[in-house]
Amino acid sequence: MPPDGRLNDSLDARTHDRCCIGCGHPLRGVTRKVCPECGRRFDPDLPRTMGKVANLGFRRGLIGTCRLLHWAFLIFAVTIILYSGLGGHWILVAMIVFASLPIMLLQFVLLALPMQPISMRRRLLGYLVPLAVISVPLTDWPIRMNFKLHKASLQAVADRVASGETFPRGTRVGILRFRQIRKARTREHIGFQINGGGNGGMFFVATPPEFVGRPSSYQPLRNLGNVWDNTNWTVDLGDGWYLVEQD
Ligand SMILES: [Zn+2]
Repeated sequence: MPPDGRLNDSLDARTHDRCCIGCGHPLRGVTRKVCPECGRRFDPDLPRTMGKVANLGFRRGLIGTCRLLHWAFLIFAVTIILYSGLGGHWILVAMIVFASLPIMLLQFVLLALPMQPISMRRRLLGYLVPLAVISVPLTDWPIRMNFKLHKASLQAVADRVASGETFPRGTRVGILRFRQIRKARTREHIGFQINGGGNGGMFFVATPPEFVGRPSSYQPLRNLGNVWDNTNWTVDLGDGWYLVEQD
């Protein structure tokens, strides 16, 4: 009885350029005499029970691309989620994510082709990770989550600003660092600047309990004009808090 490795090696020599007749799944590296994709049986000693992979080099290229994209999307997802969660600019996030859509589509097609042994976990991750990336600009969930974590501390600071206290540039609340914390020009609303400069950027805004948001007259889509100075985008964070972009 030869050791397992040799048995598999000799099996591999007979199956490395063969594929399943039923579904086209490559049989290279398969250690049992059954297709891992569709369950069809084959016999390595009977070539007619297997199909021949016509363009092995091309397939290898596609498989390599799929694997590379898998890791690239994992790194991309972590980067985008962290950037958005720490207050990255929403237009930049949206532009980068939507620019990557064609590559996501390519990866979905590569994952769906029955040409490579992919574990169920990797296949599932391959679909879920790009979808998680797309969900960031559509729902702003990383920054919403980070806001929830800091909400109690932010409310405490907002209450102190409301009663006249001032905070210097670069004040930190938890892991968030704010460019400035100030009142709105015409209202008793308190804004925490997350990014941008003196002329604009993104803010968390605390409003008093009686406040009611009113859609902006010149830009009614996704914008409440009376939350903050000159906004062109507003997201309701709940309990009188908003995420806004000042123009
Ligand atoms: Zn098969």
